[in-house]
Amino acid sequence: MSKSKELFSEAKKYIPGGVNSPARAFKAVDNDPLFIERAKGSFIYDADGKEYIDYVGSWGPMILGHNHPAVVEGLQQQLLKGSSFGAPTKLETTLAEMVVAGVSSVDKVRMVNSGTEATMSALRLARGYTGRTKIIKMEGCYHGHGDSLLVEAGSGITTLGIAGSAGVPAKLAEETIVVAYNDISALEEVFKEYSQEIAAVILEPVTGNMGVVTPNAGYLESLRNLTKEYGALLIFDEVMTGFRLAYGGAQELYNIEPDLTTFGKIIGGGLPVGAYGGKEKIMDYIAPEGPVYQAGTLSGNPLAMVAGINTLKLLKEEDTYDNLEEKGQLLEDGILKNIKKVDVHAVFSRLGSMFTLFFNSSEVTDYQSAKSSNTKAFSIYFNKMLEEGIYLPPSQFEANFISLSHGKDEIQTTIEANYKALLEVK
Ligand code: PLP
Repeated sequence: MSKSKELFSEAKKYIPGGVNSPARAFKAVDNDPLFIERAKGSFIYDADGKEYIDYVGSWGPMILGHNHPAVVEGLQQQLLKGSSFGAPTKLETTLAEMVVAGVSSVDKVRMVNSGTEATMSALRLARGYTGRTKIIKMEGCYHGHGDSLLVEAGSGITTLGIAGSAGVPAKLAEETIVVAYNDISALEEVFKEYSQEIAAVILEPVTGNMGVVTPNAGYLESLRNLTKEYGALLIFDEVMTGFRLAYGGAQELYNIEPDLTTFGKIIGGGLPVGAYGGKEKIMDYIAPEGPVYQAGTLSGNPLAMVAGINTLKLLKEEDTYDNLEEKGQLLEDGILKNIKKVDVHAVFSRLGSMFTLFFNSSEVTDYQSAKSSNTKAFSIYFNKMLEEGIYLPPSQFEANFISLSHGKDEIQTTIEANYKALLEVK
């Protein structure tokens, strides 16, 4: 038995399902999770000492690659000074200032500890600010596991084949209206019906949690116009896309200013962080200035702040996003060639350093088309890739991430493994 399998059976005795987040289980691919011992750059190493090229990147944060010296050194120095004080530090202002400078729709930002907290808090703020209760979310978008948002919420629950979660009160779920992603006329109808009741529309502007799906031309503009017309706030959940698709996130790429933005992953440089920000008049509605309460024992803790600051500093360098695009294009070209050569039903969806290979015969534009993908084919593909030393997210409905530390050799190795894995699927 492999060491990972041994560790997994031990873990299952003490941890539900043996994992601290269901996305880590290999249930959908009929396998057991690898237990990871260490990582460096674009490589991770499991408990059996096997090396893998990593496209999970801790589900998004590791854009620099694992264990980047700038992050490690910053953390070592900070640890000697203390890990948490529960009092303000200059580091919090520095990271907040960097986020504000990088994202034009954000005047002020509040740090929390996870993406889930960020979206929960942003919703509360939107409800408090507008005095309205209903929210609109898009089918297949995941915004963490807050009650209001765990309705038709993409990747994790789709992987497990469920629509929502037990334990979410029906009365609360009723306040969440779900509309198909990329469908503006459905959104118009909802706005007409509920006119003055909608506090906010929240979405992943480019989705990662049903796999990578990009907005149709004009979709985000129409969303912006509709929310303005009806006095609802537009919330871009950029927990995954922030500082990933561009330094200023998807909103920079598509030139749309939401009212509120949620962040996480990259801005914590691999430590637990989330944040939400927006225009000053809305953000000042939060306690202690305003009536919307939100707090956190470890919020803005110095370790996460240092890791975030040092990560953003490096991302700010001029060629970051061109570099990621170049690697993305290289991988895309290779995989598209393989798909053609093997003649398999698969479409490669990519934006910058985020991608998903859908086992589907047509382009994926929303949750329903994502769900029509062949998950059996994905499972075969995933397991062959793993055997070939390529570590992918264990679900068809996830984004894969390229980091700055992935070299052209690793991309080439991945393309070769992809060819072999596609042959197995066929
Ligand atoms: N929002 C998006 C778009 C995400 O992808 C995620 C996590 O994957 C979250 C929110 C929740 O973040 P966390 O897992 O840090 O709570």
